[in-house]
Amino acid sequence: MFNRKDEKVQEDQSVEPPGIIADNTDSLWEKSNSAESVISVPLSKWNDWRWQMRNRIRSYEQLVRVFPALKQRKELQGVMNKYPMAITPYYASKIQETNYSDPIFALSVPHIQELYDSACLSDDPLEEHCDMPVPGLVHRYRDRALVIATTMCSMYCRHCTRKRITGMRENSISTRRMKQIVEYLRSHPEITDVIVSGGDPLTMPDSVIDMVLSSLRSVPSVEVIRIGSRVPVVLPMRITEELVNIIRKYHPVWINTHFNHSAELTPEARAACARLADAGVPLGNQTVLLKGINDSPQIIEKLCRSLVRNRVRPYYLYQCDLVRGVEHLRTSVRKGIEIMEYMRGRVGGIAIPTFVVDVPHGGGKIPVLPNYIISMSESYTVFRNYEGMIVSYPEPGTEPVAHLIMPESQSGVWEVSAGIDEMIMPEKNKRMARRRENSPGVTGDSCNGF
Ligand code: SF4
Repeated sequence: MFNRKDEKVQEDQSVEPPGIIADNTDSLWEKSNSAESVISVPLSKWNDWRWQMRNRIRSYEQLVRVFPALKQRKELQGVMNKYPMAITPYYASKIQETNYSDPIFALSVPHIQELYDSACLSDDPLEEHCDMPVPGLVHRYRDRALVIATTMCSMYCRHCTRKRITGMRENSISTRRMKQIVEYLRSHPEITDVIVSGGDPLTMPDSVIDMVLSSLRSVPSVEVIRIGSRVPVVLPMRITEELVNIIRKYHPVWINTHFNHSAELTPEARAACARLADAGVPLGNQTVLLKGINDSPQIIEKLCRSLVRNRVRPYYLYQCDLVRGVEHLRTSVRKGIEIMEYMRGRVGGIAIPTFVVDVPHGGGKIPVLPNYIISMSESYTVFRNYEGMIVSYPEPGTEPVAHLIMPESQSGVWEVSAGIDEMIMPEKNKRMARRRENSPGVTGDSCNGF
């Protein structure tokens, strides 16, 4: 377990504290022989994002050094050989339990099940390589394009859609490649929105980020630049003043980050989001629905409420892609619908993400909702709300026929769609009971018939 030395530590101390020995390459740390399982690091290093990057947990040996309880899990070595592992010391320090019931552990530590795939899975289920007119640029939707700026991330999420490339070789985009991309964008002025992704583009040096953003801004038709980054979650100290000052030069720049669980919204992560929001960067969040990690209505509710409190708009709730190595994390589509059903009416609209399935063969994102339209006639569309209230919406030109007497009719969906009844309300509706309590004596049309 890591322990960030508290504020009392002298930041300029030149001698490593007991419990940590950095080797010459500065890419490894080791525990002392003491029985203590805490690795202490001076704050000056801890808060330096480059130190965090250099000291990511990359190997099984390093993992065991930090979490001795994993000594018996040698099989994880095989998983890492296939799908690289990287965990920042910061993110590792947030692990409370050394097992997969801990969301941060499960999101970052390889699982043997990654080696067992169903036949439905593939390396590139979204077929991004088929929509790549220039290496590093995906052009699928007419007005949008995606730049794969790097294959490096500060942490390799076990559920990553781009497992086929992330961490295999840690490369960032070159100026030459960026020129080719700019040429393509100039010859396609219909592209107005460019997403810089990867890998994680905010792991690149400031100078490269500046080069990428200025190149994109040099294309007159590019209106909006978006950056997809998990850095605010797993490496919040990367959101430095220098970085923020680079980003704000190229506004409008939006950032979509990637919180999957409220446990990730630590004070450090919240401060990173605040630094970006204060610099005028609109923040959105993309969550992937993951079995055993966040596939519960209450967990998603808590996450979304926390995001909004921190000026991050829940944007998408993703169904897990059909990518190799993630079968054990996939949930059913039904689970996502159940979560959306729970959220609507319980949580304000600003905190409700759109649940999407990014369908195979490059079909794109399909928004999925519970069924709210239950019938339609020429004059009325019949909806049901989150409470089960069934109510009609008259189409333009429709005259009310609410008082039409049809003795053979019972109150049902057809009557609502024909305009005979305006609504059907479940008998035990608490909202209506409250309404009657709050407005005694108000009945009839002014209260929708209740
Ligand atoms: S940060 Fe994004 S690109 Fe990198 S491993 Fe995680 S999900 Fe994949």
